[in-house]
Amino acid sequence: MFMNIKKKKITALLLCAAIVCLVLGACGSPDDGQTAESGSSSDEEYTAKVYAMDTYMMLTVYGENAEAAAKAGAEEIERLDALLSTGIETSEVAVINANGGGEMSEDTLYLVNRSLEIFESTGGAYDITIYPVMVLWGFTTGEFAVPDDESLAAALNLVDAGRLSVTENGDGTGTLSMAAGQEIDLGGIAKGYASGRVMEIFEEYGITSAMISLGGNVHLLGNKTDGSQWHVGIQDPADSSAIIAGLSVTGKAVITSGGYERYFEDEETGITYHHIIDPETGYSAYNGLASVTIISEDSTLADGLSTSLFVMGTEDAISYCEENCVQYGFDAVLVTDEGDIYITEALEDDIFGVDDAAQLYVIDTQE
Ligand code: ADP
Ligand code: MG
Repeated sequence: MFMNIKKKKITALLLCAAIVCLVLGACGSPDDGQTAESGSSSDEEYTAKVYAMDTYMMLTVYGENAEAAAKAGAEEIERLDALLSTGIETSEVAVINANGGGEMSEDTLYLVNRSLEIFESTGGAYDITIYPVMVLWGFTTGEFAVPDDESLAAALNLVDAGRLSVTENGDGTGTLSMAAGQEIDLGGIAKGYASGRVMEIFEEYGITSAMISLGGNVHLLGNKTDGSQWHVGIQDPADSSAIIAGLSVTGKAVITSGGYERYFEDEETGITYHHIIDPETGYSAYNGLASVTIISEDSTLADGLSTSLFVMGTEDAISYCEENCVQYGFDAVLVTDEGDIYITEALEDDIFGVDDAAQLYVIDTQE
């Protein structure tokens, strides 16, 4: 069925598995404050902690200017949260939703345009007009409920990013028009964009080594201060305390989407529903994948695609990688519900510590 996949188990790599530096684990202990900052007194390393976009975030910066850079990065995240979050009534996106369209600042215009590109290239798996469906399921408030068929059909009727229309104002800003009742949600892409913006700020401060951790997302600048590559652990979707594989990474975002991140269980049926919605059905996407990790220098793309490929499911995600990963500049680690792992072939040299129980398949991306 998977014509281009070499069935190869990379046993050699298992033998030389290094100790996994749990970059993902580093975001563990959440603070209860909105914003907290802590750092060593030396100017060589500084960590800023931010709670934004419903996520505990940690920005660790190394070298001269570390503290100033980390603080500027944290401020940028707070600015983007206030601009993009649907849950903040005064945000630009919330105002656009309340008014059925409106003016977009540069950041919002950029993200809507990138979202529309991903909508096109994924055949609609990624669709920012999913918001009315998110509301119906209670993912926006935490008051979860399985919707009745009629309400779901009505909300689903509004989901079609093809009906959005963007006018560029010529000064970097834009205007969004949408069909009556439509509302947008940039939650699938905003964190990736935010970490990319922070990296740009770090570079303006002359920083060459930094790590941002935003929930399950990691974005790395350069290498570790000793010049060696960062090691990122990919969480085992079946066991939140375990790592299913490690990746060696230089200067890229490593962004994971999984159904285990935000979900609720319907007490009547025992069915678990999570926050990544299949726009074809209006239900949580259960299409064979337990998690999707995208690795790219383009963190906005990585975030958008992690959500998209999760929706597309195993077969379509594999085809998408075969066709697009070289051209678009990304790599992927797909973990199936059975615990098998598919990686794009460029990752063959970067993956280590693969869980013994996992079968590893390599996706051929040459063609
Ligand atoms: P997380 O934000 O938990 O890291 P994702 O990046 O996968 O995970 O984004 C999930 C969010 O994306 C949801 O909370 C919702 O705001 C939005 N979303 C859900 N389904 C879709 C979809 N099919 N297309 C676009 N956005 C979606
Ligand atoms: Mg995403």
